[in-house]
Amino acid sequence: MIHEILPVGPLQCNCSVIGDETSHEAMVIDPGDDIQDILALIAKHNLQVKQIVITHAHIDHVGGAMKLRAATGAPILLNQNDYALLKMLDMQAAWVGMASPGKVEIEHSVAQADTVKAGSLVAQVIHTPGHTEGSVCLYFPAEGKLIAGDTLFAGSIGRTDLPGGSFDKIIDSLHEKVLALPDETVVVPGHGPLTTIGEERESNPFLQK
Ligand SMILES: [Zn+2]
Repeated sequence: MIHEILPVGPLQCNCSVIGDETSHEAMVIDPGDDIQDILALIAKHNLQVKQIVITHAHIDHVGGAMKLRAATGAPILLNQNDYALLKMLDMQAAWVGMASPGKVEIEHSVAQADTVKAGSLVAQVIHTPGHTEGSVCLYFPAEGKLIAGDTLFAGSIGRTDLPGGSFDKIIDSLHEKVLALPDETVVVPGHGPLTTIGEERESNPFLQK
C-alpha cells in the first residue's frame, strides 16, 4: 500500500493519498486544500485516482475536492447525512477565513458497511455520527489502518459544538464502532499525529468508562 499523509490548508487537515502498488489505482481522502501538492504526490507515485472520499463536510476536509475532481475525473463520495452541511460551505468559509470553494457536487453517498475500492485496496465505511451527522471513518482491514476524520484524535475526540454535532452520538460511535477495531489498528486522525486503537482505548480521557 502506498500511503502519503499530507497536512493541507490553514487548519492542516491530514489528506491521505492511498494507492495500490501493483495497479497504481488510488483514492484520496479529505483533499481540503493545496491540490497542487496532492497532485505532485499522485504524479510522484504514478497513481490514477479512482475515488475522492470526504470523511465529513467541513471546509478544511472538502474545500479542494472539486479542483481534484477536475484534475483527475474521479467521483466525490460523502455520506448523505452531511449534504446539508455541504450547502453551508460559504458560511463555513467565513467562519475560518478561507475563500469559499463554491458548489461541491457529490457523485454518491457512502453509508455504513459500504466498501470503497482502488485496485486491490478495500476500505470499509464506518458511519460515525457525532462530530457531524454524516461523519464516516474508513477502515482498511487488510492493512490494519483507520482513516478517522475528525471523530478520533490522538488523546482527544472531535468537537461537537458546531452545527450537526452531538457529544452523545460521538461517544456512542466511538464505543460501539471505533473501539470495536483491533488494538493494533493504526489511526490516521483528521488532524495531528497518528495513534493506535489500543493507545486510545488505554489513555484517551474521553474514552474511559
Ligand atoms: Zn471537522
